[in-house]
Amino acid sequence: MKTGLLFGIVANSKTRVRCVFCGVYIPKATKCIEEHTNGMKHKETIDLMSENGMSYYNDDELYCKPCNVYLSEEDSVASHLEGEEHANWIAAMDDLIEGEFINIDAYLATESEDVFCEVCNTKVTCTLQNIEEHVNDILHRSNVAEKLKPLNGIFPVENDDELWCKVCDEYIENTARSLLDHIDDDKQHVEWFMDIEDLIEGQEVSIQDYLKNEHEKNAYCNKCQMQILCNSQSIEEHVNSEAHFNQFS
Ligand SMILES: [Zn+2]
Ligand SMILES: [Zn+2]
Ligand SMILES: [Zn+2]
Ligand SMILES: [Zn+2]
Ligand SMILES: [Zn+2]
Repeated sequence: MKTGLLFGIVANSKTRVRCVFCGVYIPKATKCIEEHTNGMKHKETIDLMSENGMSYYNDDELYCKPCNVYLSEEDSVASHLEGEEHANWIAAMDDLIEGEFINIDAYLATESEDVFCEVCNTKVTCTLQNIEEHVNDILHRSNVAEKLKPLNGIFPVENDDELWCKVCDEYIENTARSLLDHIDDDKQHVEWFMDIEDLIEGQEVSIQDYLKNEHEKNAYCNKCQMQILCNSQSIEEHVNSEAHFNQFS
């Protein structure tokens, strides 16, 4: 987004100008305008626009792409974002794309009309309906399942009918549906991840290799540069040990 000194500033009367983004009036003096456009609030407002699909149109209008509305003069970026319509759209979209590997940043920065699906390597025109269809599509579901396997300790087995979960030491049916059910809803599986992630948070301990490599038994402490048996007891002992605590990273 271009951000010249007068970006967002329009003439209002002989004595004052208006910042379209912040919805405030400023005395018509270079010093005052500079003070505003270099200020925190103005910069934060511009950041908010590029996180919410809002752009400056024809040098005097604010346009919100998700809501497909031009804001009136009484509106500011902040007042629009607080409104129900916009908040509902964002909430619905967050809900749809959570855990789906869909990147919406370029759309929200108003650089693209599309979102990008990282697992299907494809663009989808950004409407709630299109994205809902996409995330429920069978090809997308199986691409998500493929992506999640190495992050979840799931491995193929010789008979193609089943998959093996290393974390639970359990066999599951080899379908995207049963894999995703296992990852999202299996109590043992979910609790294992909650426990371990809780323990390693901020501790520089990595379990990626353990999850990705079928025969790897260890987690790795990057701080101490050593392996730790990958179970919650060993990891708990390690991260609470004095050696780990005193290690300089
Ligand atoms: Zn402003
Ligand atoms: Zn909006
Ligand atoms: Zn997809
Ligand atoms: Zn499991
Ligand atoms: Zn350590």
